[in-house]
Amino acid sequence: MRRWNGWGDDAKIYPLSESAAGYLGRILGEADPIPDASFEQVLSTVPASRLSPHRLINTNAAERLLHARGQSLPDWIALRSGQIDVYPDGVAYPTNDEEVRSLLKYAGETDTRLIPYGGGTSVVGHINPLLGDQQTLTVDMSRLNKLLHLDETDQTATFEAGVTGPSLEEELRRHGYILGHFPQSWEFSTLGGWIATRSSGQQSYYYGRVEDFFAGGHLETPVGPFDLPPFPASAAGPDLREMILGSEGRLGIITRAIVRVRSTPEVERFYAAFFQDWETGVKAVRAVAQSDLPLSMLRLSNPLETETTLIMAGRERLVSWAVRGLRMLGYGDEPCMLIYGLTGYRGILAITRWRTAALLRSHGGLLVGKTIGEMWRKSRFSTPYLRNTLWERGYAVDTLETAVPWANVLATAEAITSTLRDGLTDQEERVLAFAHLSHIYRDGASIYATFIFRRAKDPTETLHRWQKLKNATSEAIVAHGGTISHQHGVGTDHAPYLAVEKGKVGMSMLEAVQRKLDPQGLLNPGKLL
Ligand SMILES: Cc1cc2nc3c(=O)[nH]c(=O)nc-3n(C[C@H](O)[C@H](O)[C@H](O)COP(=O)(O)OP(=O)(O)OC[C@H]3O[C@@H](n4cnc5c(N)ncnc54)[C@H](O)[C@@H]3O)c2cc1C
Repeated sequence: MRRWNGWGDDAKIYPLSESAAGYLGRILGEADPIPDASFEQVLSTVPASRLSPHRLINTNAAERLLHARGQSLPDWIALRSGQIDVYPDGVAYPTNDEEVRSLLKYAGETDTRLIPYGGGTSVVGHINPLLGDQQTLTVDMSRLNKLLHLDETDQTATFEAGVTGPSLEEELRRHGYILGHFPQSWEFSTLGGWIATRSSGQQSYYYGRVEDFFAGGHLETPVGPFDLPPFPASAAGPDLREMILGSEGRLGIITRAIVRVRSTPEVERFYAAFFQDWETGVKAVRAVAQSDLPLSMLRLSNPLETETTLIMAGRERLVSWAVRGLRMLGYGDEPCMLIYGLTGYRGILAITRWRTAALLRSHGGLLVGKTIGEMWRKSRFSTPYLRNTLWERGYAVDTLETAVPWANVLATAEAITSTLRDGLTDQEERVLAFAHLSHIYRDGASIYATFIFRRAKDPTETLHRWQKLKNATSEAIVAHGGTISHQHGVGTDHAPYLAVEKGKVGMSMLEAVQRKLDPQGLLNPGKLL
């Protein structure tokens, strides 16, 4: 069963070895496990619903609690402490367009705010009802989850928008196809959520970001149905799919989407290489990105992430072996690990592997084969479960991300990690902060940082610590010319920084479109705009 106050399936546990716990204790200080509120305790605090009855609306307190928050750290703090200030007044599970239309009509007539809900995996406050007088209804898309049509001539598939990653791929696999969109939240996030947040998968280098595979679809908006027909390409004015990508539930409810799929690749392999330092590694991945070699993934960890990742994975022996070996080869004490993936036809892969190896070696890379790459592949969706384990040991974990041109990569990564590292010194609390380049482009890269700190006994103080770190790093990202989000979206947490990159005219364009499609402001207020 899915955890109600943490990540993932409650049968899955990511164990932490005693030496990994010791490593955290040495860096951050010993932490006290702080008990969580139970489901029953929190349930008893859910207030009465304010909604008038409707055949599609469930006002059951448990349903409302299960849809109250997403997966951001503030969400975790609220859920685990039971200090949830606001709940949706009801949850609806539409099964077709007509039911979605009926919910929009109900919202208009009863002045109810609607929150479209995919998998609830948002990490920036997208699906949280906001404090205020308005009654809120969460529209859970999970029953709109079918494959409607597979066009093998065009290699496109039409899915209902509430389909999750595993179900979507399972349907395609049966016919020999793959979408290949693998965000780390793949187990639970949905096609509609990926579109509405402009999501990026781990292998988007090969399979494309959502904007590459979203070919068209259908929305129900407060002013009527809206179709986006698929074209291979079009010069007929601005592309309206771009308005829907990243619309965060503000413009309409996506009920189905047409996606570009491809034949299941013949082979997929992941390899690892080390570089003597971060700067050398960054130069090497830029060279690969600009070489046109058809890789499927490049992920370069900075020295602290290299060390921490291997230790958290319970691979201390591998770390000390690697550090000793790398030192003997003159790689110093701060090696950086690159994991790279190759996907496609066997023959092309052989050439790509050979050319990539030559390029990495010419940039000082030490290739170490498949073992670490395979380790990454096996744990690619289980790493988020470590958040549960660390929380239970008294530590809070969060991530943030941006993308910048190559010229700013080193300075921005340094600004992010040092801002996080020093962000709680006035409270004499330490922060473990590390980063990797997660998605690589010809003209720049995304920087993805993880930070871990001790929870305070008082959840409000833990939230305060997080807010301080989040504000300072968001300011640092913006000051370095980075986008406020490369893949997580805007929600509430990033909304104050959006105008910096969109500008005054850009913001007024977005607001005008939102007002046009949703004149009463029914859909997901307070998010994005
Ligand atoms: C552990 C973890 C790992 C993650 N890894 C990644 C990653 O690798 N890459 C990445 O891009 N993101 C990642 N995320 C963030 C998150 O998974 C993405 O933002 C995802 O796209 C959200 O999808 P969802 O279905 O859960 O949407 P939700 O969280 O339910 O909703 C997100 C937004 O989309 C809107 N929405 C959802 N469905 C619809 C619909 N049908 N019509 C209109 N609006 C809709 C909602 O109103 C909301 O504004 C991660 C999150 C977690 C917790």
